[in-house]
Amino acid sequence: MFEYAPAPESRSVVDIASSYGLFINGGFVDSADGRTFKTISPASEEVLAEVTEAGPADVDAAVTAARRAYDSVWSTMPGRERAKYLYRIARILAERAREFAVLETLDNGKPIRESRDVDIPLASAWFFYYAGWADKLSYAGFGAYPQPLGVAGQIIPWNFPLMMLSWKIAPALAAGNTVVLKPAETTPLTALLFASVCQQADLPPGVVNILTGAGATGQSLVAHPDVDKIAFTGSTEVGKAIARAVAGTPKRVTLELGGKAANVVFDDAPIDQAVEGIVNGIFFNQGHVCCAGSRLLVQESVYAEVLDRLKRRMATLRLGDPLDKNTDVGAINSREQLTRIRELSEVGDAEGAQRWSAPCELPEHGFWFPPTIFTGVTQAHRIAREEIFGPVLSILTFRTPAEAVEKANNTPYGLSAGVWTEKGSRILWLADRLRAGVVWANTFNRFDPTSPFGGYKESGHGREGGRHGLAAYLR
Ligand code: NAP
Ligand code: MG
Repeated sequence: MFEYAPAPESRSVVDIASSYGLFINGGFVDSADGRTFKTISPASEEVLAEVTEAGPADVDAAVTAARRAYDSVWSTMPGRERAKYLYRIARILAERAREFAVLETLDNGKPIRESRDVDIPLASAWFFYYAGWADKLSYAGFGAYPQPLGVAGQIIPWNFPLMMLSWKIAPALAAGNTVVLKPAETTPLTALLFASVCQQADLPPGVVNILTGAGATGQSLVAHPDVDKIAFTGSTEVGKAIARAVAGTPKRVTLELGGKAANVVFDDAPIDQAVEGIVNGIFFNQGHVCCAGSRLLVQESVYAEVLDRLKRRMATLRLGDPLDKNTDVGAINSREQLTRIRELSEVGDAEGAQRWSAPCELPEHGFWFPPTIFTGVTQAHRIAREEIFGPVLSILTFRTPAEAVEKANNTPYGLSAGVWTEKGSRILWLADRLRAGVVWANTFNRFDPTSPFGGYKESGHGREGGRHGLAAYLR
């Protein structure tokens, strides 16, 4: 194996303020009750900044600002004019990509390679894509005069902070809605930097409002009577609570929830490529991916070979400083998430599965978990049924294609799946039978703004991305 010299990305491209207010009506303001919390770097536990916790009065102020902006400018502005703002935001994100990537990596713990090459370019791409729709809504297949919904309350998780923000804000604005967005408690910083991008783009005040806070802030936003639509990405548990809270109200809802995707490897698959796909499927972003390929289904005849090559490949993964450009696996996002990953892995041991972890040294400070696989997993095991949301893969085997379908669909979720085979006919046969919103063929974890994304069953309802993503913001 090669030795790599450290190649750290410079932190000097970002200026992190010591404290941040809430972004309401185009400016940064203090909260009504003065409550704050700290955001840390999960790789070092260093405090990065103090952030304001929005309470019900702040939620009300943000919704009021969003309503005013909706009525007075945004809903009446021609689509071609709205598009200019979206294009401007897209360009600024691209221009300031390095700054955003470093900040995302500091606040979230993900490798700079991923924030630089995936999160930030996709966030910009999402704005470019939906900018193009803003003046073409009448031709999008939703009738001649589709109308925006009004004020959208948007709540996002910590795994892809800026990318999730763009998935939410870009289609909402393109369709003529205004928004109040709450980023996750552990990753507020890129959303706050995005607020300054809105200022830089001269976006009319109140069109975008950013409220930092925890679960209670999200709850107040969901409960606010003047919100017309709730868009949520996060856990199935909170998604269910939101569905209950809006039941019987006129609010529209889209929910993007958890997953337990099957990644199916047939015996005719190109094994080395499949191994890369397995690694990308579960170790990308430390496995903090709703559509992660967390259940590997391998055809029995190639099981030994796949396992052997997978372990060899995993032994070459470099875990450590997320700002180092050579790093493959970064930090776990929070202590709570690390505890959850540890607990579920211990359940795997107790239920009789065999654990193997890549031989890597874990840094002393921060939250870390080595890339790990479990073999001898059965469908009844909790590690085969529950979402671990970490770098932990459960491996099962199958003999026939029909058995692969049975096992892949034996889950309460249905967000994504992967299939590895040389035969196009087999890909189509399997994709027809898998109950999952996205099926990747001979690849995994690919995202594109033109492609709709969303789940079956407990993975949620509604689609984000593509023309379908507009439907969630139009009536
Ligand atoms: P989470 O606890 O559900 O949190 C998601 C967001 O909701 C956060 O901003 C959170 O605030 C907020 N929240 C918490 N309780 C709330 C409540 N009662 N009412 C309103 N908002 C509330 O999920 P997470 O732990 O951050 O993220 C991991 C989960 O998200 C995983 O299960 C994963 O599968 C899922 N996910 C799904 C997708 C998808 O596209 N389907 C994408 C990414 C993640 P706090 O930050 O304060 O908790
Ligand atoms: Mg943080």
